[in-house]
Amino acid sequence: MAVQPCPVNGTHLMRPAAKAVVRDPSGKNLTDKYNLGYHCACSCGEQFICEGFPHFTPPGQIGYWVAGNLKLLSNIGGVLTYQVKESAIRHTNASRMEGYRFII
Ligand SMILES: [Zn+2]
Repeated sequence: MAVQPCPVNGTHLMRPAAKAVVRDPSGKNLTDKYNLGYHCACSCGEQFICEGFPHFTPPGQIGYWVAGNLKLLSNIGGVLTYQVKESAIRHTNASRMEGYRFII
């Protein structure tokens, strides 16, 4: 379930975004720890970073995920680094999530 409904589209339309790295406030790399390799974003600013492949046909299990209007720390060479509290990372075995449409 999306944290907030999309103010632009109602359902967030999540398109593949940049390469992203997630760090906790101390700088620990949470992307490595939780395998957060897929990053997509909605035109409203919503970010979604997850372990799995919800944009595939058929969609793959999401696994670990974090989403919201994430705090951007840096954009170096096209790699966006976001700051996230580790407690905000969740896990699901589902391949879809209410509030989001994962598109290519
Ligand atoms: Zn949106």
